[in-house]
Amino acid sequence: MQRDFSQLKNQYFDVLICGGGIYGAWTACDAALRGLKVAIVDQGDWACATSSSSSKLIHGGLRYLESLDFKLVRKTLAERQMLLYTAPHRVWPLRFGVPVYKDSRLGSFQLGIGLSLYDFLAGSVPKDQHYRRYTPTDFAERFPCLDSSGLIAGYTYLDAQTDDARFVLELIDGAQALGAVCLNYCKVIHFIENNSQVCGAEIRDQVTGEAAKVYAQQVVNTSGQWSAGLQNEHHGGRLSKGIHLILPKILQAEALLLTAKTDGRVFFIIPWYGLTLLGTTDTHYDGDIDHVTVETEEVNYLLTEANRVLKPINWTEQDIMGSYAGLRVLKQSADVSPSSISRDWELKTLKNGLLSSIGGKFTSAREDAACIVDAVCKNLGINKSCETFGKPFPWLAVGDYQQWAEAALNEGLSLSIDKESAQWLLRRHGNRVFGIFELIKQNAELAKRISPALPFIIADLVFCARHEMVVHLDDLLRRRLPLLILSKMTPAQFQYLAGIAAKALAWDDDIVNKESALCIHKWLIH
Ligand SMILES: Cc1cc2nc3c(=O)[nH]c(=O)nc-3n(C[C@H](O)[C@H](O)[C@H](O)COP(=O)(O)OP(=O)(O)OC[C@H]3O[C@@H](n4cnc5c(N)ncnc54)[C@H](O)[C@@H]3O)c2cc1C
Repeated sequence: MQRDFSQLKNQYFDVLICGGGIYGAWTACDAALRGLKVAIVDQGDWACATSSSSSKLIHGGLRYLESLDFKLVRKTLAERQMLLYTAPHRVWPLRFGVPVYKDSRLGSFQLGIGLSLYDFLAGSVPKDQHYRRYTPTDFAERFPCLDSSGLIAGYTYLDAQTDDARFVLELIDGAQALGAVCLNYCKVIHFIENNSQVCGAEIRDQVTGEAAKVYAQQVVNTSGQWSAGLQNEHHGGRLSKGIHLILPKILQAEALLLTAKTDGRVFFIIPWYGLTLLGTTDTHYDGDIDHVTVETEEVNYLLTEANRVLKPINWTEQDIMGSYAGLRVLKQSADVSPSSISRDWELKTLKNGLLSSIGGKFTSAREDAACIVDAVCKNLGINKSCETFGKPFPWLAVGDYQQWAEAALNEGLSLSIDKESAQWLLRRHGNRVFGIFELIKQNAELAKRISPALPFIIADLVFCARHEMVVHLDDLLRRRLPLLILSKMTPAQFQYLAGIAAKALAWDDDIVNKESALCIHKWLIH
């Protein structure tokens, strides 16, 4: 993946997309597949905002059944099923356990009905993907970390999981391969109008400071929490903040869906890269949209609720290995509680012709992006329909996935990569994993882990630095690899990893020091 600002200058595009989160990335892929001349820019790194701060779930959203949002659940379940098939390296199945206690808000009968409906809405899925009911004893054995006193039943149901930042990156790579001009660290300063209609944008390269006017027949705003500001209008929706904490491993291969005692909200405990994600919160937000931070009361809320249902491990702040926060854009609604507001998505056409994406879900972004590109095509008088449904992902290996994965895993093991890291490598890179194997063939030292506790090897870091449009150290350590949220890093480690990346990125000592200092400031000092 290459970054070249000159590709934007003096160019006229069919469509210019402002914002490289999941909505922008799918829109770019879809439009490029339909043969349009596409440009997509992000003011920061790909997926640097909400799209790398999600719960990493590709799911229908069991809890939306309670608000009778069947349309949304059916839509997201259909996307989940498609992604499990078109992107098995990027989206993998994850079973969730739901305990039922004597005093649970939903009884066993109600939950059973809800889960039957959830499976029904997913369409004809294989039987081994259906929900299951367990006796208290069996459920307690399945989830030994749970407090089993008062347990009267337990269920498991299927959803799926991903690495959200890499999901977006893979789509951007796919769009670039189809001819789209894709540039991170390029900020839309303002839209350009002609006869009161948007016909382009002034864009500043955040790396060099250079500015350019870029023209397009249609401009699409997928800038998430920044949309309203960019459109010079009051927010068309509400913002809700969600945080996650990273804690030590307590689960094997299955996650937990739990209900908070304080407010009856649903939260998750999820295995991810060998550790545990605990989240999320859902609170009204009217703070600084450029600096969304994790607050002590949010941390206390999650720790208290988790400690209530877990066997006495009593997680404290000392156990937290990392955290992150993100903002949801929700439709304007009379509901007081953000968690009661629908997560469905909306496309707004402004008077000046700008198309603006509002809200939505990571899971359903493909279908929503298809509506965006349908609108673009209609405006441009182009008769091309969406081709993203069922299309294999850019990094999907050809042929039978299981066979491919087994062979690739064996090759990784033969190069002395430990099994856990090798398994994650396949998910992280799909068929590009052989590029990483090549690096190890040249230097066997690169098969070693970056840090003993995390399943990432040095060759992965080098490969990402070389090939994945890394501009800053933070891109590499937060999104290409999620090291910064999975561990507490020291200044010496920043310096060490910047040193490894330096060769691939042609950084001299000054840049290494500057990038390390930036990371230290952002992640250790705030
Ligand atoms: C806590 C939390 C948990 C969630 N969990 C899930 C989940 O598990 N599953 C699920 O399906 N959904 C989940 N969601 C919802 C999902 O994450 C969002 O719907 C989705 O990420 C929104 O993507 P987006 O592209 O609209 O916005 P963003 O990802 O925020 O992207 C907007 C981009 O626009 C860029 N931008 C802004 N201004 C400019 C400018 N002037 N010039 C250029 N670029 C600009 C930003 O830098 C940013 O990268 C969750 C949301 C939250 C907050």
